[in-house]
Amino acid sequence: MKNPKPNVLTIYISLCIAASLSAVVFLLGRNVMHAGVVFLAAVVISYFFIYNALQKFIYRKIKLIYKSIHNLKLGKDVGFGEYLSDDPINDVEQEVAEWAITKRKEIDELKRMEKFRKEFLANVSHELKTPLFSLQGYIHTLIDGADEDPEVRKKFLQKSADNVERLCNLVDDLSEISQLERGEVSMAKETFDINKLVKEVFEALEPQASQRQISFSIKKGCDAAFYVLADREKTRQVITNLVVNSIKYGRDGGETIVGFYDMDENILTEVSDNGIGISEEHLPRLFERFYRVDKHRSRDAGGTGLGLAIVKHLVESQGGTINVRSTPGIGSTFGFTLPKSKEK
Ligand code: ADP
Repeated sequence: MKNPKPNVLTIYISLCIAASLSAVVFLLGRNVMHAGVVFLAAVVISYFFIYNALQKFIYRKIKLIYKSIHNLKLGKDVGFGEYLSDDPINDVEQEVAEWAITKRKEIDELKRMEKFRKEFLANVSHELKTPLFSLQGYIHTLIDGADEDPEVRKKFLQKSADNVERLCNLVDDLSEISQLERGEVSMAKETFDINKLVKEVFEALEPQASQRQISFSIKKGCDAAFYVLADREKTRQVITNLVVNSIKYGRDGGETIVGFYDMDENILTEVSDNGIGISEEHLPRLFERFYRVDKHRSRDAGGTGLGLAIVKHLVESQGGTINVRSTPGIGSTFGFTLPKSKEK
């Protein structure tokens, strides 16, 4: 018998006691009627006493335990009568099982966050250490006499300046991502033509692209107005990061093409390059902070490894999604959606 109710349990115990007493009476007097009367009286009396004892000493205490668990689960104080049941043992069993599952999930999440934090700290200190140590080395070499040769001096000062710039980029990206993760970045949504915005980004990045003879264009058949409802400046940042990557990981003399697609509720924007590409095993982790396919190439190009993580945050916090397709040696396409404006 699993989890008997108090009254059922009491009946069983009372029947046992009454049967034993009436058996004794029958054996002593050999009188069936006396034994029957004793049996009935014993059942009634023992039921009354045992039921009260059970209620007082066991079930009340269990109900108190149940009350504590229930309140802890709900995070508030609930009146005693609201959850009174005539089967408190079963209730406690269910409540404890549910509670254990919830707590297990919370503990797993806390462990995951702890691991995440440790990894993040390790990554940040590593990223800071590399340019700082280089900077330290160049400055000490200059102090030790390398500044006497004007050419060497210029070279070392230039390298120091590059490392300072890398540190500044890293600090900027870190503060941006932490603001995004804390939900402190507000989005000023407006209706604008994303094709026009892409052309503005092309213009701003033209000098960078021409250094590698990379050409910019809008995909054939897509050169029309596509109105989205989003934050213009945050979207500019998304497009800038993707176009800068298409230059950094593009090939000399290559091309960056941007296309737009109307997807009913959303506008899909795709930034494609014919650069080095990314092999399949890296794609699922590409939007994680500090994830890089080729660390040296990224650092040499001034990358912090945070660009795509920021892009993902910016797109998702505007109700969009981001994805990537890529083939090593052929090129990559980064696509993101933004809600379509109903105004135009
Ligand atoms: P980074 O600052 O290193 O460029 P990102 O977060 O912007 O950081 O990109 C993460 C990594 O993804 C890069 O280090 C690079 O290996 C890869 N990547 C990003 N964009 C491209 C691209 N267009 N083509 C090839 N690889 C890319």
